[in-house]
Amino acid sequence: MTTSPPSLEDRLAQLESEARRLEPGPDARGRMRDRVVAQTEIFLESLEGGKAYVVTDHKGSGLLDLAIQEEGRPIEALLQSWTRDVETPGLNPASGGHLGYIPGGGLYPSSLADYLAAVTNRYAGVFFASPGAVRMENLLIRWMADLIGYPEEAGGDLSSGGSIANLTAIVTAREAKGITSGRVRQSVIYATDQVHHCVGKAIGIAGLKEAPVRRIPMDDRFRMVPTALARQMDADRDHGLDPFLVVASGGTTDTGAVDPIGDIAEIAHEHGAWFHVDAAYGGFFLLTPEAPEPLRALHQADSVVLDPHKGLFLPYGSGALLVRDRELLYRAHRYDANYMQDTHRSREEPSPADHSPELTRHFRGLRFWLPLQLFGVAPFRACLSEKIWLTRYFYERLRDIPHMELGPDPELSVCLFRHVPPGKDADPVNARLIEAVQTDGRVFMSSTHVNGSHWLRLAALAFRTHKSTIDQALDVLRELVEEEAER
Ligand SMILES: *Cc1c(COP(=O)(O)O)cnc(C)c1O
Repeated sequence: MTTSPPSLEDRLAQLESEARRLEPGPDARGRMRDRVVAQTEIFLESLEGGKAYVVTDHKGSGLLDLAIQEEGRPIEALLQSWTRDVETPGLNPASGGHLGYIPGGGLYPSSLADYLAAVTNRYAGVFFASPGAVRMENLLIRWMADLIGYPEEAGGDLSSGGSIANLTAIVTAREAKGITSGRVRQSVIYATDQVHHCVGKAIGIAGLKEAPVRRIPMDDRFRMVPTALARQMDADRDHGLDPFLVVASGGTTDTGAVDPIGDIAEIAHEHGAWFHVDAAYGGFFLLTPEAPEPLRALHQADSVVLDPHKGLFLPYGSGALLVRDRELLYRAHRYDANYMQDTHRSREEPSPADHSPELTRHFRGLRFWLPLQLFGVAPFRACLSEKIWLTRYFYERLRDIPHMELGPDPELSVCLFRHVPPGKDADPVNARLIEAVQTDGRVFMSSTHVNGSHWLRLAALAFRTHKSTIDQALDVLRELVEEEAER
């Protein structure tokens, strides 16, 4: 006996009933949502007094027991794994005690914005598809352009972070200056040793690896020396090379140094080079009265990178690029395809897809817009000023701990220091000290290599960092320095 194949209608009905499991009803949604929200409340309530770094033996390996399989699992089991395997081990970047690298925190309303963005799945790539979403992103770009003092014709892009924003800037510079492959070897790039490593990475990805890179000398506070830059650019020009790109830092990651941006802008432009400033860390300090003077010259740069997931405390996934002449960003990134033809009907507003390598992307404007609208700008200003003063406070109080060598006066909110007990080799002492700080976990600091030595650094930028956090960091250091003395 042969069974006849199911009819097309039967097959569709069966597939539909399976596929509909992807759409839980209101009760099931409510149950999942309540579980998740309850978990986030436990997390948020545990931040005060919780650790900034947690050492575990398992390092999240429990996830390996949850292979992706044909049938689903209950939310309870998955949240249990989330808490044990992901939320707990390692660095807690939501903690105010995160004082390493460059922290930020992750503002709560951004999580609700991401929720709205994901539930509605608005398409923020082209104006035609979501005019409101694109207007919102353009408004935020304009807000940042106004902050740095860019003219009306400026534009930009909300990126996933500073690295991609720097890459987009360098590609724009390459196209604006017409650096085709035949010209790469004679097109010179200028930066200091303190420029963020993502700039070197971007130069490579942009196909500019063979361009000569000049490391411009710095003063004793790790800032580019403009006269040295001018001399090097003149020398290169005399040798038949083309000064192509100058990259300055609006707050270096290692030391918080701000290059003399106005002076560098003049020299770069006199020599016909593109001037880019990586202000991923320091740019938003422009909101404060304490902003170092050179940051006020950011508008003289051809392009600037800011990182809202640092200086505006947004959750990770929010960088920004600003370009003084939007047309140059557009020319470097606009491509077309037949299937996109409908999207050109409405061109009143620039579309993100024309200003970056991305086409389909997270609607990342909402997580940026919502907290700014809900809170207003004032608490952001206060929080950034607070970080500058906390860092000065930390720097002053470090003097009370025996045998601390201090780095330069902090310009922003990064402080370099190291322990130099007499009769001991300082590098291994500081390597031990930072490991002990991180294992202790009450606060998290990081270390770096400067001028061939091991230094410790504190970076205050998380919005949950306040005076009690800094006092705790000082207590931890004092205790561990005493332990070191007893070794
Ligand atoms: C953090 C940082 C970057 C890299 O940005 P990501 O958002 O981590 O990709 C670039 N430059 C500076 C100065 C930074 O502090």
